[in-house]
Amino acid sequence: MLQLRPNCERCDRDLPPTAEDARICSYECTFCADCVDAFLHNVCPNCGGGFTPRPIRPKNEWRPGVSLAHQPASTRRVHPRWGAEEQREFVERVRSVDPIYR
Ligand SMILES: [Zn+2]
Ligand SMILES: [Zn+2]
Repeated sequence: MLQLRPNCERCDRDLPPTAEDARICSYECTFCADCVDAFLHNVCPNCGGGFTPRPIRPKNEWRPGVSLAHQPASTRRVHPRWGAEEQREFVERVRSVDPIYR
């Protein structure tokens, strides 16, 4: 199940479950759209993959046992695994390659 992480791993801004500017990679690394657009250039600094908008988990229980209340968002904040300069170099190395060829 997709882990709804509470913050941007780069700038630490809050990304609540309803955030429409949350972006995730295939490993659920989570960043805000501003960081993805301005700094990461669609390169996840942890895995090199691209990003997609994070889906919003429904708060209403449209189906039994399935809702944000039943499968709540994570409250454990995630911190950068790589230093800012290392991230920048990594992004520069990878960004020119289209995600489907990475
Ligand atoms: Zn951010
Ligand atoms: Zn990633």
